[in-house]
Amino acid sequence: MTTAALRDSGTRRPAGWDGKSLHEMLTDSEEVFARTGRYGGVTRLTLKEEDPIRYEKIWSRLRGGIVGARETALNISASPVVRELGELCFGLYTPEGDSITLSTGIMAHVHTMSVAIKHMVRSDYEENPGIADGDIFVNNDPFTGNVHNADVQSFVPLFYGGELVGWAGGVTHELDVGARQPTGMPIGHVSRFEDGYILPCMKVGTNDRLHRDYLARSQTAVRMPFYWMLDEKCRISGDHIIRQTVLQLIADEGIETYKRFIREVIEDTRRGFVEHVRTMLVPGVYRSPAFADVPQEVDKGKLPDFAARDSLMHSPMKITIHADSLLELDLDGASKWGYHCFNCTPAALQGGLWVGLTQTLIPNDKVNDGAYLGTRLHTPRGTWADPDYPLASTTLSWCFLVPAFTALFRGLSMGFMARGFLEEVLAGYPVTGNIAQGGGMNQYGEDGAWTNFEMSASGMSARYGLDGENSCAAIWNPEGDMGDVESWEQLAPMLFLGRNIRPNSGGPGKFRGGLGHESLMMVYRTPSQLLFHVGNGHMFPSGGLFGGYPNATLYRHSVKHTDLPDRIARRLPYPVRDVDAENSQIAAATKGEVLRDRNMLHLADEHSEHDIYLSLIAGGNGLGDVLERDPQKVADDLDQLYLLPRCAQSIYGVVAQPGEDGRWSVDAEATTDLRRRMRCERLERSVPAEEWLRGERERVAAMDVIYPVKDMYRQSMQLSTNFADAFRAFWNLPSDWMPPA
Ligand code: MN
Repeated sequence: MTTAALRDSGTRRPAGWDGKSLHEMLTDSEEVFARTGRYGGVTRLTLKEEDPIRYEKIWSRLRGGIVGARETALNISASPVVRELGELCFGLYTPEGDSITLSTGIMAHVHTMSVAIKHMVRSDYEENPGIADGDIFVNNDPFTGNVHNADVQSFVPLFYGGELVGWAGGVTHELDVGARQPTGMPIGHVSRFEDGYILPCMKVGTNDRLHRDYLARSQTAVRMPFYWMLDEKCRISGDHIIRQTVLQLIADEGIETYKRFIREVIEDTRRGFVEHVRTMLVPGVYRSPAFADVPQEVDKGKLPDFAARDSLMHSPMKITIHADSLLELDLDGASKWGYHCFNCTPAALQGGLWVGLTQTLIPNDKVNDGAYLGTRLHTPRGTWADPDYPLASTTLSWCFLVPAFTALFRGLSMGFMARGFLEEVLAGYPVTGNIAQGGGMNQYGEDGAWTNFEMSASGMSARYGLDGENSCAAIWNPEGDMGDVESWEQLAPMLFLGRNIRPNSGGPGKFRGGLGHESLMMVYRTPSQLLFHVGNGHMFPSGGLFGGYPNATLYRHSVKHTDLPDRIARRLPYPVRDVDAENSQIAAATKGEVLRDRNMLHLADEHSEHDIYLSLIAGGNGLGDVLERDPQKVADDLDQLYLLPRCAQSIYGVVAQPGEDGRWSVDAEATTDLRRRMRCERLERSVPAEEWLRGERERVAAMDVIYPVKDMYRQSMQLSTNFADAFRAFWNLPSDWMPPA
């Protein structure tokens, strides 16, 4: 919309600067960047050069104000996911929607809220529904700028002297989204119609008050509207604290300084990012594909036939560090979107990228869209990364985002290694799993829904020279915390029988992955509860580094109609953990109908009181050759029950015996012998690479693989000529070769 048209359209004068509409400001800003390669066309950082102290003070006031807004606002929320685990984040944006600074928290939203604001600006919200001082907008639609609809964003435009000077935005993760099935990230959806409450950048308030129609709608749109409304208040309060911070800063420093500052700080951050890439990484191409399994054939009869099939997500991530230090990511060759809820939008991909980069390449406080301008992310249309079907379901995009971006960490780590930044090297990230979720009648006699966010404390992967930390963080939440058991018990009708570090969950290596944990829960004080598992059970979704192994895959172990009431009444032992799938403590200490398989993605399964549910949280990946691990470290792991005794020899070639005090000691001579034998066996098993490739080519040409793999390659080849050509050339296949149907 042009300024003239906006003037003609009604009484309002354009909200942008210098008499421009917001849409014009955005178009101009993009044109200037395309032409000059600098944000806002800024050549000299005059504020920074002329008065660096003042520049840093302005930065600190904004950044501090936003971190403070988050810390204050989160106490308004009642949801343990927000309050205890910090699944919230605030940001300050320019009138065009470029982020200036962000709070701590779930940094996935460096650019998702930018996309949402830009959507409103490009769609001429200024003219209809109008943008005025005191307005409140809500967005949770991945197609207008979000990861999944459980992440709800609230925006408040910031006005000074009748001019729009920016936007405050806040996002929280909701426990229920009003979908067909309970919880915030329900699975088993075929289309968006099942995803629940979706607000695609809606105006829901004026004069700092929420509209009654929105309040009324929200009361019956989700389960437990109490959490929805308190989180809404939490976000709006945070936005208003940010507004106060910005207006006070403008009053102190002057509007022209503020306008100059926000341009300079984004350009400054862009330059910092480029410099960082130049310093830390080596130009070149880093390839690292990733995959994720979607086993839906098991749900035949419950899902439509076209959805009840097994499939694989293919993420052929190609990272290019250009000579001018541009960091480019390309998903060309990705497989098609599917009739499941793990599809991602380009905005979701930005979420995955930024939560990763802020923990690796730029772990500092100067993060904004300047850094975004130093990157390029290609998400090919029609793939799972940019569905051309506008009704695709997206409630659990993270199920694809997390595995897809493990490639980024492996690629960056190889770059760090090549540059000599050994302490930055990380053996990728584990795909966290299991997301324990459920719903139904809760312990308060109300219709409830819950997600247990324990998986924000998975094991970390090994580093160069160090084992990974146990139960400590997650790719998608930099402030990893498993939350207090009591908080989860307050939220859900699930009683914890035990929570323990899980042996063998980290990937073996010279340096092993940190261990995940296992929580054993019993359905309690409800006649019925629908329970989900979300994780990868059929395959390794990520890999180790430099010869290290991936973390253990997860499995499901639930017991229905147990003998626990009787055991409890008779004071008999009951299980508190599983420890080892091959010598299960659950199996040893309870009887009932056992569900034990690799089905970590399944439709909601109905459970009753005293049923048992095991939740395994992943460990990290390993780094380096297992046979090079210090034998004493293996003994230490045995002492702590971090490693199952039977695996000391089979994995690490370490011979150790327990002493009278129960502590393990290494038999150095036997270990040296065993490791020598294991190395010889490796040599005997090995074949020259050329020979191996010939054998593999036969398999590929005949597509001697399971159906989902065949189907995945067919999709990739149909969607990308580049991928098809590269695949055929690598395997020396005819130019018209396609995997058979
Ligand atoms: Mn979320």
